[in-house]
Amino acid sequence: MLRKTLIIFTVVTSMSICTALSAQSFNEWKIIHAGTLLADARENVRTEQSIIIRNNEIVEVRDGYVSPNQVNGAANAKVIDLKNQFVMAGLIDSHTHILGQQEPNRRELRVTRSSQFSTLMGVEYGMRTLRAGFTSIRNVGGDRNAIFALRDAINQGVVMGPRIKAAGQGLTPTGGHGDGGGFRDDIFPHPHSGVCDGVAECRKAVRTQIKYGADHIKYVATGGVLSMTATGTGQQFTDEEQIALVQAAHAMGRKVAAHAHGKIGLEAALRAGVDSIEHGSYLDADTADLFVATGAYLVPTLIAGHTVERIASERPAFYTPEVRQKALEVGPVMKAALRTAHEKGVKIAFGTDAGVNDHGTNAYEAVLMNEAGMSERAILISATVNAADLMDLTDIAGTIEAGKDADIIAVSGNPLENISTLLEPQFVMARGNEINLDVPPVDLFPWPNI
Ligand SMILES: [Zn+2]
Repeated sequence: MLRKTLIIFTVVTSMSICTALSAQSFNEWKIIHAGTLLADARENVRTEQSIIIRNNEIVEVRDGYVSPNQVNGAANAKVIDLKNQFVMAGLIDSHTHILGQQEPNRRELRVTRSSQFSTLMGVEYGMRTLRAGFTSIRNVGGDRNAIFALRDAINQGVVMGPRIKAAGQGLTPTGGHGDGGGFRDDIFPHPHSGVCDGVAECRKAVRTQIKYGADHIKYVATGGVLSMTATGTGQQFTDEEQIALVQAAHAMGRKVAAHAHGKIGLEAALRAGVDSIEHGSYLDADTADLFVATGAYLVPTLIAGHTVERIASERPAFYTPEVRQKALEVGPVMKAALRTAHEKGVKIAFGTDAGVNDHGTNAYEAVLMNEAGMSERAILISATVNAADLMDLTDIAGTIEAGKDADIIAVSGNPLENISTLLEPQFVMARGNEINLDVPPVDLFPWPNI
């Protein structure tokens, strides 16, 4: 009887939450007065514009400052004054791990934290990301059950957060970058759902992730920095395995992101037909030509290299010796790789590897990209139009125009002249919802002085 009461209570409670959250389904109008508007990062800015929003969607962008009674049916519209701001489309991060971030006890957490708790941490980290101006993210590997639940809850409006496109578990060969080296099998099960060896297992692993809800597939073409094995950053999956992974994913309509540092493994991934290379640390001019030939995006993740190099230098005991050495080697080369790729015309999609860096610091990637030689405009394109294209979000995100979701941010100053203005968004709207930015940061896991 008690159980039945609890179920009824739960149903009623969740129904009332849904009702509150679906207020958007009513006819709610907002009009943003934008002093400067960069509606499409590829185009010129326009001044004194009005963005007319109904529920979650942009209805129209009009010249001049429009009042509510000038818009049919919008007499009760809320007017949002951004006349002194630079207004643009919400930013998009193509490479996050939103369920966690580097913490001193991260090894223990991998085996002690439940999927449910990870989902709830994802809500908090998602809000930090959203408040930083990122209204969409592509998650590229993590606890499958946790990330799909978080994605669905956000996308259905049950909780607020950035729109999420999610891979399930990242795919890795046995002993590879994603295989959780350093744990006993009875503590960290092997094989887990992301491990596959040989063509047949690789196909099955892709199909399994898709079966449970993956929007795209992530695999590790080469070794990586934060795996606790001294296996370098060279090729891990064979050419044949990579071809099988990509074909299986594309056959089911899913794009593929390949983590790749070393040149040989990176080029194998490009030849296999991946849609994006994550990191790309040791690419050279020839690799860049291959990018251009295949049309793949590079997702540079400079802030990840910057972060691991800084931690390895400043906190020698933080990483295991294997990880520390890789961090000190890989961190410093990533900017030069981006410079080479950009100069050769490789398509760049903004992405951080957030989770390596703290969630909410995503925009610092833009500052590092600028230091690597990308223009402010190229960076803004990478973080809006290009990332939307890579994530198949072009129909609803990446620009401010009629028919798209109202994902809108504003900054003081002009990011086309000073990219660091992105570090402090003054206004964030996600799918028509204004996000409260006046929230003190919560240090959930204060780092001991190690
Ligand atoms: Zn990553």
